[in-house]
Amino acid sequence: MKPINIIIFGRQGSGKGTQSLLITKEFGPVHISTGDMLRAAVEKGTEFGLQAKAIMDRGELVSDEVISGIVAERLSQSDVIQNGCLLDGVPRTLGQVESIMEVSEKLDFSIDLVLNLEVPIDEVTSRMLSRGRADDTEEAIARRLGLYEQETAPLFEFFSKKGVFEIVDGLGSETEVFDRLSVVITRVLSDKKQ
Ligand code: AMP
Repeated sequence: MKPINIIIFGRQGSGKGTQSLLITKEFGPVHISTGDMLRAAVEKGTEFGLQAKAIMDRGELVSDEVISGIVAERLSQSDVIQNGCLLDGVPRTLGQVESIMEVSEKLDFSIDLVLNLEVPIDEVTSRMLSRGRADDTEEAIARRLGLYEQETAPLFEFFSKKGVFEIVDGLGSETEVFDRLSVVITRVLSDKKQ
């Protein structure tokens, strides 16, 4: 299978994590989730993990410098170069976009597709409230979604201009949504020269 490099956007609660695992299984790119990487560091209890935890608990963003460093390191590893990547939860700021574009140039790969799994704010809010997690208070949810609109949604324009941006309806069953994503990914794969 040709390696494909994808970025997936979607609000918290959009089902982005679940769909990412399905994409990885079906199409082979390595799942790179900065949220998972940070949670692993927190779990290890390193100094860095402790600092990250404090930021994550407040629902704020870890610095671009830290994120760019860990992503650049991961992107340069051989499994990613061989199989492509699925970036999930990153980039979240313009600084992170710039750093990913720089790394892709240096390592000579391109971002083939940028997916936006679209689920409206009302729907993701009620999904998160009903899962009842401790960090899912109404206030924390609103803060995270606000930050997403403010910092992350403006990045869509950058990728639209590059002609790689695709909006996919995230409402419906897991299978229905995955079928929609698969159609887009299959088309991009068949267009990709290799
Ligand atoms: P996530 O699982 O992607 O929602 O990430 C959980 C938390 O980790 C976020 O609320 C942020 O505090 C932090 N985080 C994850 N990815 C990033 C990123 N690309 N930039 C900044 N902070 C991040």
